[in-house]
Amino acid sequence: MQSTLWNVVTNSVKPKNVAFSKRILETLPSRLYSTTHDADLVVIGSGPGGYVAAIKAAQLGMKVVSVEKDPTLGGTCLNVGCIPSKALLNNSHYYHMAHSGDLAERGIETGDVKLNLEKLMKQKSNAVTALTGGIAGLFKKNKITLVKGHGKITGVNQVTAMSADGGSEIINSKNILIATGSEVTPFPGIPIDEEQIVSSTGALSLKEVPKRLIVIGAGVIGLELGSVWSRLGSEVTAIEFLPSIGGVGIDQEVAKGLQKILTKQGLKFKLGNKVMGAEKSGGIVKVSVEDAKDSSKTETMECEVLLVCVGRRPYTENLGLEELGIEKDQKGRIPVNAVFQTVIPNIYAIGDCIHGPMLAHKAEDEGIVCVEGIKGGPVHIDYNCVPSVIYTHPEVGWVGRTEEDLKAEGVEYKVGKFPFLANSRAKTNNETDGFVKVLSDKSTDRILGTHIIGPSAGELINEAVLAQEYGASAEDVARVCHAHPTCAEALREANVAAAFGKPINF
Ligand SMILES: Cc1cc2nc3c(=O)[nH]c(=O)nc-3n(C[C@H](O)[C@H](O)[C@H](O)COP(=O)(O)OP(=O)(O)OC[C@H]3O[C@@H](n4cnc5c(N)ncnc54)[C@H](O)[C@@H]3O)c2cc1C
Repeated sequence: MQSTLWNVVTNSVKPKNVAFSKRILETLPSRLYSTTHDADLVVIGSGPGGYVAAIKAAQLGMKVVSVEKDPTLGGTCLNVGCIPSKALLNNSHYYHMAHSGDLAERGIETGDVKLNLEKLMKQKSNAVTALTGGIAGLFKKNKITLVKGHGKITGVNQVTAMSADGGSEIINSKNILIATGSEVTPFPGIPIDEEQIVSSTGALSLKEVPKRLIVIGAGVIGLELGSVWSRLGSEVTAIEFLPSIGGVGIDQEVAKGLQKILTKQGLKFKLGNKVMGAEKSGGIVKVSVEDAKDSSKTETMECEVLLVCVGRRPYTENLGLEELGIEKDQKGRIPVNAVFQTVIPNIYAIGDCIHGPMLAHKAEDEGIVCVEGIKGGPVHIDYNCVPSVIYTHPEVGWVGRTEEDLKAEGVEYKVGKFPFLANSRAKTNNETDGFVKVLSDKSTDRILGTHIIGPSAGELINEAVLAQEYGASAEDVARVCHAHPTCAEALREANVAAAFGKPINF
């Protein structure tokens, strides 16, 4: 087995690296290790990509070892990403409803509303603990061996897990799956202290509500965390280099709508501006800002907390890639082919550390099809059907092409729109901001994209994903019976509008 794989490696990596890798391989057996494991698959990283892949592989009958360097399982998503941010978004929304008088307007008088930030944070931590613990339970149930430590690929069939106390365990495996995820992209010249100048991680655990919060970057994470602290009482300003909010891939009509709504909620935006530096002085952070188009227009803004939210970058630290001849691309990602193989055929990579959107569900899906592929199954993901959601209030959800994409591609399309103002459930709940927009092919009526801003957009978008994944036309969705009264009827109505030119209820 070893020699077969070795032949494969020598055929696929550069000669100088082959020699190096072979040296590592030859020296390894002579070293002393406390424990060794044999596996069909070793997965490095237990984020949504890695842990889901590990479970699926075990379900397919593989002997699986998962290596994780952090104390808890679940990666960025469960520990410092999707889960804690959504806990804070949910509960800050309840607080805001009570505090802003929204509940009173609905006939629910609460009296003096007070924020207990410690408890709010505790609820967030409870959710994280329950869910990360849940993965440990699933690993046990699926007989997955968990090895704690930093995993390094020390041979084409070998991963060494090094623990903080200097111990190491060696895992010999037929296949290796890299699912090491991503880390916060630093802002040059603005060091993070996670107290006054924070990354998304620090912004999930502030000990008090800052009077003023400046967010560098009005992308998805910046808008979500900006919303949290704005609802809890901060004056929030987001500084964004681009002329619009919401990051890459958002439909511009939706971006404008979202900006309008969030501005109404109290968030301030400085678009088309770049941050040049930041300085801490006497409990204040002074942020220098320059107009992106006119460098003579500068100003200094002040805040108690500065949140740096300029994106994430792949994390592949000390993974052994260079020694094996696996060269990263310009963005630090691990290049893989259509079945997620690196240049070494039995070493695979998925999730945030490869190309594509940095999203938990994208990582999960890649993990599943990757291990199915190892077992000989088909491997296919339609990245055009990977949805995106911004969990502000209202939420934003989209899938497929934007109007800007279709124009650029010269595709002739129809637009079907329906406002939540005309949706009975949204009206009943007094949550009428936003709309659904469906884009379908002008000649075939096939759905090309769906864009929602409005109540539960993050849930509604899944119906649009299903329709698009199965190649539905707008008329297909328009003819499907939808429960009444639901916000999903707005999605149906937008499809009615795309298919027949006008909706029923507007
Ligand atoms: C604030 C925030 C909010 C987010 N919200 C959402 C959201 O709502 N929806 C969404 O889809 N996405 C969201 N994301 C993005 C999402 O968290 C990531 O896309 C997702 O976690 C990527 O999964 P992954 O498995 O590729 O990597 P990760 O989740 O980053 O997991 C990688 C794991 O590998 C481990 N690891 C790394 N190197 C090694 C090594 N050498 N040895 C052992 N272990 C190693 C790490 O410790 C980590 O546990 C959010 C991110 C942030 C920061």
